[in-house]
Amino acid sequence: MALLARYGGDAKPLAGGQSLVPLLNFRLARPAALIDLNRIPALGGIREVDGHVVFGAMTRQRAVEFSPIVARTLPLLTEATRWVGHLPIRSRGTIGGSIAHADPSAEYPAVLTALDGRVIARGQKGERELTSSALFETYLTTTLAPDELLTEVRLPVMPAGAGWAFEEFARRHGDFALVGVAAALWRESGRWTARLAVAGVGPVPVRLHGSEDIIARDGVGDAAVAAAAVRAVELVQPDGDLHASADYRRNLTRVLTERALRKAIGRTGHPRPEPHEQPS
Ligand SMILES: Cc1cc2nc3c(=O)[nH]c(=O)nc-3n(C[C@H](O)[C@H](O)[C@H](O)COP(=O)(O)OP(=O)(O)OC[C@H]3O[C@@H](n4cnc5c(N)ncnc54)[C@H](O)[C@@H]3O)c2cc1C
Repeated sequence: MALLARYGGDAKPLAGGQSLVPLLNFRLARPAALIDLNRIPALGGIREVDGHVVFGAMTRQRAVEFSPIVARTLPLLTEATRWVGHLPIRSRGTIGGSIAHADPSAEYPAVLTALDGRVIARGQKGERELTSSALFETYLTTTLAPDELLTEVRLPVMPAGAGWAFEEFARRHGDFALVGVAAALWRESGRWTARLAVAGVGPVPVRLHGSEDIIARDGVGDAAVAAAAVRAVELVQPDGDLHASADYRRNLTRVLTERALRKAIGRTGHPRPEPHEQPS
C-alpha cells in the first residue's frame, strides 16, 4: 500500500497477470511500476466465518474450483468457475484480480452481484466494505482508489437446499461470455427467493430484481419462470459489438435466464455435488 501511494496511481498491482499481462503486451496499460502481490500469504486462503465464505484476494480460481468448502456452501461459485477461461488460466488467475479487473462479461462479478457479496478494500486510510453496486463503476473500472487494494471477497453461504445454476453462451469454449446468468433459488417459510444477475449486457453486471420479484410473488411454475425471463430483457441495456448485436444479447438474456431458473429449480433440495477431483 505504501508503494501504491508512492506511485500515486501510476503503479498496478500484479495478481495472476491473466488480464494485466495481455494489457501490457498490447501497450494498453503502461504503468510506471508493477507491485507483485504473489508473495503475500495473508492475501490467500478460503475460510468460513459466521455464515460467510471469506476469500483472500489472491486465492487462485483453481483453488476456488476444487475447494470442498466452496462446493458445500457456494455451489453457484464452483459452477461459475468452470466457465472462467481454461484450466491454465484458472491456475494463475485470482478471485480478487477478476473482480478488480471489472470485466462486465466475467463470471465472478456476476456471482458477487447475485449473492449480495461484499469486497474489502484497504488503503492507507483504512478499510472499506463495498457491495457490487458500490464497486463496479463502468467497463473495466471500479471505485477502488489508486492507493487501495482489494484484499478480501466475502460471499454469504447459500441456504441449505438452495438450487443454483450458471448458464452462459460464448463463441468458443473458454472465451468470455457473450451473456452469462447466475441464479440461486430457495424456499423459506413457503416463499421462494431467487437471486439473479447477468454478465455481458452493459458496463457492469446487472442484478435482475424485477425477475426476482416475479418468482417471489408467483412461485416457480412454468408461467412465472417464463415471465421472469421476459422481464429480464427489460432490465438490461446491452451494447452490440463485433461478437453479437444488442438484440442477440437481449435474446440470450431471456433464454439463459429461463434455463438458469429451470436448472436451479431442479436442484433445490438436492445434495451438493462433490468437488471435482484435483487433476494430477
Ligand atoms: C485466454 C483467456 C481467457 C479468459 N477467459 C475468461 C473468462 O471466460 N472469464 C473470466 O472471468 N476471465 C477470463 N479471463 C481472465 C482471467 O480470469 C483473469 O485471471 C482475471 O480477469 C484477472 O485476474 P488475475 O488474477 O489474473 O489479475 P491481473 O491480470 O494480475 O490483474 C487484473 C487487474 O486487476 C488489478 N488487480 C489485481 N488484483 C488486485 C487487487 N487485489 N487489488 C486491486 N487491484 C488488483 C490489476 O492491477 C489489473 O489492473 C481470461 C484470460 C485469458 C488470458
